[in-house]
Amino acid sequence: MADQTPIQLYDTLTRAKRRFEPIDPDNVRLYVCGPTVYDYAHIGNARPVIVFDVLFRLLRHVYGADHVTYVRNITDVEDKINARALRDHPDLPLNEAIRAVTEKTADRFRADALALGCLPPTHEPRATEHIEGMIAMIGTLIDRGHAYVATGEEGAGVLFDVGSMPDYGMLSKRDLDEQQAGARVAVAAHKRNPADFVLWKQSGPDEPGWDADFGGTAIHGRPGWHIECSVMSAHHLGERFDIHGGGIDLVFPHHENEIAQSRCAHGTEVMANYWMHNGFLQVEGQKMSKSLGNFVTVHDLLETEKFGGRKWPGEVLRLAMLMTHYREPIDFSVRRLEEADNLLTRLWRRAVHAEDAGSAADVENALADDLNTVDAIHALSNLSGRPLRSALDFLGLPAAAPLGDIDPKSVQATIDSRLAFIREKNWVEADRIRDELLEKGIQLKDGKDPHTGERVTTWEVKR
Ligand code: AMP
Ligand code: ZN
Repeated sequence: MADQTPIQLYDTLTRAKRRFEPIDPDNVRLYVCGPTVYDYAHIGNARPVIVFDVLFRLLRHVYGADHVTYVRNITDVEDKINARALRDHPDLPLNEAIRAVTEKTADRFRADALALGCLPPTHEPRATEHIEGMIAMIGTLIDRGHAYVATGEEGAGVLFDVGSMPDYGMLSKRDLDEQQAGARVAVAAHKRNPADFVLWKQSGPDEPGWDADFGGTAIHGRPGWHIECSVMSAHHLGERFDIHGGGIDLVFPHHENEIAQSRCAHGTEVMANYWMHNGFLQVEGQKMSKSLGNFVTVHDLLETEKFGGRKWPGEVLRLAMLMTHYREPIDFSVRRLEEADNLLTRLWRRAVHAEDAGSAADVENALADDLNTVDAIHALSNLSGRPLRSALDFLGLPAAAPLGDIDPKSVQATIDSRLAFIREKNWVEADRIRDELLEKGIQLKDGKDPHTGERVTTWEVKR
């Protein structure tokens, strides 16, 4: 760590690039808002996944792989999920239908993230596993005078009282008085302030619901979106942690409201010390939308020929994403992918064959400067051989190791030990082994023996 350039990060809250100082260097804590699992991730959703994976790798490098905790949640309760469950599984009981949608989508999301070269986060909590914690936090907010029970047109619910928090709006720089004066929409009669937002809402028969009691008012209902991240981040990372990330669209209302809930429930001045937001992605110069026909999922790019008439390896998608600084908007296009593909082919050739030249530290230093992946990629062009291989590993774009370096016997022994962990349902160890092999350029494929039905794992060297 001694000769490591200090990490500088741009913080949305203070609108400044600041030197990163963790609260506890032995446990650096990062939370990133994950997907709402009602549909496959589109290429825009992949941007925060890749960007914060680069940050995770950088932090692991500087503080040690065992000293960084990365939490990325899965939102598995949301009205779009209900709608999808009712549409796709009309014959199943509601809860089963919802589970079918969320399991399938979450599995696909994990597979996409892996194909994009992202390490699994330390924890991947699901909102539905934390309902009790949400009910408890809402109770605390009511007790402390920051939330109230109200009945609107859609039934009873609990709302956060933004007027109870003098500095509400700091992240998005919204002033409540200005908002009120400028508000043209009629304030829903049950709200004290037009900006008050939902913490808990009553559920009807076609909606998932949990029993809850708020100061004597029983409301069978479901949580609002924002409360889940306040609860899951506190559960895994504590009341105050280092970095909170997500796409720029989440600044308001989602992150603003997370801050309000967490600070008011815990009585803290700060929820996270650094707030990081990736810029938005457009496709071929336009906002992605189903009606424009430019809506591309990661799955489409990896496995179909819908975009540019061919499949695109995850590494190409990843490099194409990192060719622009994370805070800038990206125009995702076939041309960009072709450029990334050509560059990657050149780099991988030089990494495997050529003489050693240059130092991977140049790449690391560029990343330490607010994840300047543009400079980092530029620095790659001065490297070859081992330093280039280690720089590519660092960026999550490992060059296929020359076959001569791989001992098939030892790979098989490692796979066998992983299978033993799988039999014990020790997924953490099993995943760790899979990722370690992947870092060496060895990709595992899990399958079943067609005759015995037993699990078999094969491997190949990534190109
Ligand atoms: P969602 O599932 O809509 O909550 O989005 C998951 C993550 O993807 C959030 O961090 C969003 O900010 C991010 N995101 C969604 N659309 C885009 C886009 N077009 N470009 C970049 N990030 C996006
Ligand atoms: Zn969130």
